[in-house]
Amino acid sequence: MDLAAPIQEVKGIGPKTAAVLNKAGILTLRDLVYHLPRDYENFQQAQKISELKPGNVVVKAKVEDVELRRMRRNLILVEATLRDKSGAIKAIWFNQPYRAKQFEARKDYYFSGVMAFSYGHYQISNPSTTLAEDYDKKASTAKIQPIYPARGSVKSQDFKKFIKTIENNIALIPDMIPNFPGRADALFDVHFPETLVAAKNGRDYLATEELFSLLLAARLNREENQKLRTQAIHGDMEQLRKFIKKLPFKLTNAQRRATWEIIQDMAQEIPMNRLLQGDVGSGKTIVAALSCFVAAKAGFQAAIMAPTEVLATQHAESLSKLFDKSLNIALLTSSTKRKPELKKHIKNGEVDLVIGTHALITDDTEFQNLGLAIIDEQHRFGVMQRQKLLAKAHTMPHLLSMTATPIPRSLQLTIFGDLSVSILDELPAGRQPIMTKIVSPNSTTQMWAAIEKELAKKHQVYYICKKIDEKGASELSSVKKETQKIAHQFPQYNVAYLHGKMKPAEKDEIMTLFSRGEIDILVSTTVVEVGVNVPNATVMVITDADQYGLSQLHQLRGRVGRGSDASYCYLINSNSDAPTRRLREIERSQDGFHLAEVDLKLRGPGELYGSLQHGALDLRIATITDTKLIRKAENMVKQFRQKEYNMLEYKELSDSVRKYQRLTTLN
Ligand code: ADP
Ligand code: MG
Repeated sequence: MDLAAPIQEVKGIGPKTAAVLNKAGILTLRDLVYHLPRDYENFQQAQKISELKPGNVVVKAKVEDVELRRMRRNLILVEATLRDKSGAIKAIWFNQPYRAKQFEARKDYYFSGVMAFSYGHYQISNPSTTLAEDYDKKASTAKIQPIYPARGSVKSQDFKKFIKTIENNIALIPDMIPNFPGRADALFDVHFPETLVAAKNGRDYLATEELFSLLLAARLNREENQKLRTQAIHGDMEQLRKFIKKLPFKLTNAQRRATWEIIQDMAQEIPMNRLLQGDVGSGKTIVAALSCFVAAKAGFQAAIMAPTEVLATQHAESLSKLFDKSLNIALLTSSTKRKPELKKHIKNGEVDLVIGTHALITDDTEFQNLGLAIIDEQHRFGVMQRQKLLAKAHTMPHLLSMTATPIPRSLQLTIFGDLSVSILDELPAGRQPIMTKIVSPNSTTQMWAAIEKELAKKHQVYYICKKIDEKGASELSSVKKETQKIAHQFPQYNVAYLHGKMKPAEKDEIMTLFSRGEIDILVSTTVVEVGVNVPNATVMVITDADQYGLSQLHQLRGRVGRGSDASYCYLINSNSDAPTRRLREIERSQDGFHLAEVDLKLRGPGELYGSLQHGALDLRIATITDTKLIRKAENMVKQFRQKEYNMLEYKELSDSVRKYQRLTTLN
């Protein structure tokens, strides 16, 4: 079978289906066989209802009291009671009205789904189900059924059919990596497993294969990067020292060390490729600013790219104040007025430092001699955007990326190859820990009393909600509803709201008013998460706190505690249950790296490294925390380079490596 053949060649895939799949990035047979099940339906290990624990469960039960209810906004609920000899539990299906007529009385069915506590009792939501007497008769190979991620109108069942059609061809797929046999078997076991262990081993093989491509790409990049040359930037240290002396605060040791590392890198002819990692509030901006100062005073231009207009504007304002006319600074965002004129000044070199959003990388922005490019909140940008910024220089500029998302050191080295890292592991002096408290939704009186005291001191409050407005049956708090309630509760204060669906200009206006202290309480979705700095804000309330990852909660909390006043963070549980261990952790710890590790342990890597994985690295099967598989793949790469294979003979492998080479390079 030619893996490069278009999917239309599969029987049953017509032009319409092909169009949907193509749109989802599934173009070739290879893409199709690598569209792996996200889970398996397996009714083999039924548990007693009386012994169920929250999480994935399978039960064999009879169905009683089926009830169909029409809710607002076209939501249809089917509720039923499942009963076995040991007890009973509720099952609930959303928008699957046929469930109401599916079950025959007194017959046993299997149910497989996730059990959780909500609306005051335990229930299994949207379980899949099958008639027990039919299932028990099945051959063992048919007992474990794959569940594929849907793509548009193409559902799991459709994928199952397509893969079944090419079942015989899968067995003939050649290995991709020399000396790593077993690909056909692995693919077969993932799509048609006889046991879950076989499925897992198959997946591990494919994950290793994927990691091999990624690590080989990183290695080739490293070999190539070492050959690159750029202009060395020799800073005037005396001038820098004088400037640092005039700063309104004393730099932390970590800030000094990081600045020094950057200056040394820039003085080389090999382009700098450095990541500045530091928890929220650790003061990354000033390190960036000092690096720009050095570059600009040595006759080069510098650019800082930030992910949002609010953040870019804030950087521009605070750096203009900091440099006080000693540098020419320009702000370039999509709402900048008189852009052509500004771009002329950038092109002819009159502007020393350009701060901007994506507007920086449009085709008509040209620099005279861009020597240093800085990317703030780098995980928010794709590789292409990064490369576009770097392409603005005539030779490769020095690159500094900044992030508050901790990446374990071993992974930085393996995956980004030659990336150097500076870490700000110290908060500026005088910073007080943020007092953090979990609050039950039923007892918020004390919290509001404390907030009122802060407001009376002219301090400001963030109030974070999960949703923008009331849609669907969810009970999560929404920005619009809460704004009304709070405005009613505090008529003497200014309450405003902010969310991602507002126009950039509107968002900017609200953020500007808030940073000037003209708004007292800002009700918002997580759009305030990234980098915004309002030192006078001392209270952060996060509603439905258990719905977020720890790292995200930590980032949100980091919006307060940026001044010298005591700050508070209230985490409101979405229901009145005892708070989870995760929330307890954030109540106890202010250490972003620690919290990231806990998140990793309790929730898996998806949450934490989600953007890194899907954005920058595009791993589909492996996760970058699969340390065992990474080590194995690393060894395979080493051997591969030693044997000096000719990549041209391995077309599929070299295509795959080339894709990752583009993605993993930070240059
Ligand atoms: P982040 O690392 O989250 O980007 P910022 O650079 O926005 O943090 O800094 C947070 C706040 O701390 C800013 O108000 C900044 O002026 C202040 N700050 C930075 N460094 C110091 C320092 N050494 N001493 C006191 N305040 C500092
Ligand atoms: Mg920042």
